[in-house]
Amino acid sequence: MKTKKRAPGSKASRATAKPKKSPRTLMTSTEKRTTLTPAYAAQSPTTPLAPFNIQRRDVRPNDVQLEIVYCGVCHSDLHMARNEWGQTIYPVVPGHEIVGRVTAVGNKVTKFRTGDLAGVGVMVDSCRECPNCVKGLEQYCTKGMVLTYSSRDPRTGELTQGGYSKRIVTHQDFVFRISDKLPLAGVAPLLCAGITTYSPLRHWKVGKGTKLGVVGLGGLGHMAVKFGASFGAEVTMLSHSSDKEKDARRLGAHKFALTSDPAQLQSLAGYFDFILDTVSANHDYNKFLNLLGLDRSMVCVGIPPTPMEVQVFALMGGRRSLSSSGIGGIPETQEMLDYCADHGITSDIELIDIDYVNDAYARMLKSDVRYRFVIDMKSLS
Ligand code: NAP
Ligand code: ZN
Ligand code: ZN
Repeated sequence: MKTKKRAPGSKASRATAKPKKSPRTLMTSTEKRTTLTPAYAAQSPTTPLAPFNIQRRDVRPNDVQLEIVYCGVCHSDLHMARNEWGQTIYPVVPGHEIVGRVTAVGNKVTKFRTGDLAGVGVMVDSCRECPNCVKGLEQYCTKGMVLTYSSRDPRTGELTQGGYSKRIVTHQDFVFRISDKLPLAGVAPLLCAGITTYSPLRHWKVGKGTKLGVVGLGGLGHMAVKFGASFGAEVTMLSHSSDKEKDARRLGAHKFALTSDPAQLQSLAGYFDFILDTVSANHDYNKFLNLLGLDRSMVCVGIPPTPMEVQVFALMGGRRSLSSSGIGGIPETQEMLDYCADHGITSDIELIDIDYVNDAYARMLKSDVRYRFVIDMKSLS
């Protein structure tokens, strides 16, 4: 058995005890070299992830180099590794829930010093000039954000590669401060699953008095339940897995409905103020739209591979809105990380060795995630 279940905060937190801070590293010419970095990559939509060496760029004046300690496994990694959205550039090293230690900084870096904990999420750059970037909504950059993996750096043409690797080099503006108050392995998934659920709940003002429905109890769904409960909403878990009810309640849900049972859904018709749909696979949006009250919204953050049909009647029946939301901007992601540190919120994780990642993907497809796989990067040599 390759899985290693560890209680968040036990071995993980000991392994990441904060070392003494050393002075900022100024790069010398001998240190400035492109480093060959061990990683796991997919070479095509049908090849499993396997060991692969990548080159990380030299540390530029504004760059932060991280030794990656943990990386979460997001369902987007699977969609991308298998080119389910038709945009993957191979070879691809997935992983955008990255936490680690700063091992080098460029001479213009002010936010970090070597030895600091830090994190990198779904994007590593944007134009920084368009109206959306200026508002701190870099994920909606009109010129397109640079994704952490499978994107071309517009300045250098370099192909970005993600966190299933030993280290990463990123511009300081896209690196987050990570508190040492929380067990680090459980913090990694906040960089995507956390912000992708926090941001729409904040934007649509979910809080006390809101009847919130969360569809799908996986990586994103379990964070939505935690945030919804923490913001004071009444949370109902809408799941197609009957064996997740106990966990849903433990995570903070007040109610549970089995979505495969028409009678249970019928009893919730017109009930919700807000529904967050986190489902990764094709499914019927209409049956969830019908659960919204008058003028209420459903926001789909799950990105199934093929387009879905929406019946106008399901919207018209209550002047309802259907929308979506992409991760979160840099300022809001830092706000979410700080909120989690203040409120003791982390992801419930199953820590795995990197050679288990293909099995983890197989389990993700069976909805068998409790509730995020996180790779212990010590297992990558
Ligand atoms: P995940 O951990 O695999 O969870 C997905 C959940 O969806 C499952 O646990 C399951 O919950 C439900 N589900 C799966 N197959 C289903 C089916 N056939 N019918 C009904 N329900 C099904 O995935 P994740 O990492 O949370 O990601 C979820 C989706 O969000 C993915 O599509 C991912 O690409 C997307 N995403 C979007 C953003 C964004 O910025 N918008 C960011 C990150 C991820 P139950 O067992 O409870 O039903
Ligand atoms: Zn993700
Ligand atoms: Zn922009």
